[in-house]
Amino acid sequence: MSESNAENDPGESFRDSLGIVEKSGKRKWVYPKEPKGRFTNARNAFSAVLLLILFGTPFVTVDGHPFMLFDIINRQFILFGFAFGPHDFFLLGLSMITTIVFIFLFTAIFGRLFCGWICPQTVFLESVFRKIDYWIEGDHKDQRRLNESGWTGEKTLKKSTKYLVYFLISFLTANMLLAWVIGIEPLKKIVTEPVDSHFAGFTAMMLFTGLFYWIFIWFREQACILVCPYGRLQGVLLDPNSIVIAYDYLRGEPRGKMKRNEVRASGDCIDCNECVVVCPTGIDIRNGTQLECVNCTACIDACDTVMDKINKPRGLIRYDSLNGIKTQIRKIFTTRVIGYSVVQVLLLTLLTFFLMTRSEIDVTILRSPGMFYQEQQNDQVSNLYDMKVLNKTFVQRDIQVKLLNIKGEIKILGDNKSVPPQEAALTKMFVMLDKKSITAMNTPLLFAVYSNGKEIQRISTSFLGPVEKKTKHDEKEHDDERREK
Ligand code: SF4
Ligand code: SF4
Repeated sequence: MSESNAENDPGESFRDSLGIVEKSGKRKWVYPKEPKGRFTNARNAFSAVLLLILFGTPFVTVDGHPFMLFDIINRQFILFGFAFGPHDFFLLGLSMITTIVFIFLFTAIFGRLFCGWICPQTVFLESVFRKIDYWIEGDHKDQRRLNESGWTGEKTLKKSTKYLVYFLISFLTANMLLAWVIGIEPLKKIVTEPVDSHFAGFTAMMLFTGLFYWIFIWFREQACILVCPYGRLQGVLLDPNSIVIAYDYLRGEPRGKMKRNEVRASGDCIDCNECVVVCPTGIDIRNGTQLECVNCTACIDACDTVMDKINKPRGLIRYDSLNGIKTQIRKIFTTRVIGYSVVQVLLLTLLTFFLMTRSEIDVTILRSPGMFYQEQQNDQVSNLYDMKVLNKTFVQRDIQVKLLNIKGEIKILGDNKSVPPQEAALTKMFVMLDKKSITAMNTPLLFAVYSNGKEIQRISTSFLGPVEKKTKHDEKEHDDERREK
């Protein structure tokens, strides 16, 4: 224990140690009692929905393509059926900033609600793997007894069954993760075809299986307490108005054991320790909000059960803010929350605007660099242009270009008018104009770009040409032509 907190304030000494570490510095294995109650039931149901989404989404396709895909290796993403690639890098950056501000805003109001209800680590650990522990090894006391006992037939059977089930779930989870990254069809090939045909994919699958197995069989709650950056940021993200899982010390203190038929004059906490024995991170929430608390709600259920038994109102431990407990006044819209909300609305507006105006095909037409005009036969002048087409869709696109504002001819060089899905193509093309239609050194051009027969974009550029001295007859002819148009 450091001299700091303990000496200055003995009531704060719990902050100098971790609930999962012995005084000697060794890890203290946590055997939480199985929680039961309305919050646990709600969390189990919610976890089931999340797991269904997590494992089911990779099977959902739109027009033969994944509904969601996070192919970080090839920098290709599909969100809700829409493809995004490296060209959408600014959208990715903007989305990340928006997400970070949202996390700040959400945490300032709701504390670590995400950790308890949505975080995959908590969902898997508390709603999947810990359930397997209870199912195979029994409740917390049985688990401790089994671990501390020597190797018997029963222990060998229970442990080997547990390790096998853990491995199978880790393997399934690794498959699910890969399906989110590479898609379900490539995954099926890795699973069904010989290993040497997909060695890299198979290696990734086994590495992830090993990682998940190690996290859930051994590392467990340490991921939240020692590694997770979100958990460690709580000290700056929370304030006294944030909603956390809190013990109502005004109602609970002074705590004390309850005697049979006692008419209680002290606080409502009967010091039964039930809220401590169910805690998966080994802390006592009555000490106050702590870094280790993952908002799993187990202590709320445990304490509510106790309150029911002693005929006291539920909610001695509940979702509340520190100010809410102290003053009974709950304030959500603090200056900080209003500030985050304003930034969040601005970012969301910007992101929505960019998403709504994002085109599926981007075309640019520019005069080829370093090229001047070329005098052609039949009194024509030509300029060479580079047309770059970026096809962000999943289908091949044919591109056609027309001149809108002037009579002229477009000659595409080669046959590169069709752009494969998710690719960019560069096409060279000549624009030929009659000399007499050139009245200035720089003639403005307006192109209409068509894809599969539908106009998708208009592009303005300019045409370089010689300006010749015109005879009166030429000028009259030119004026007549313009009038006709
Ligand atoms: S479960 Fe409730 S009554 Fe029991 S020790 Fe915890 S806070 Fe006190
Ligand atoms: S203090 Fe309560 S909510 Fe926090 S981790 Fe422990 S049991 Fe879960």
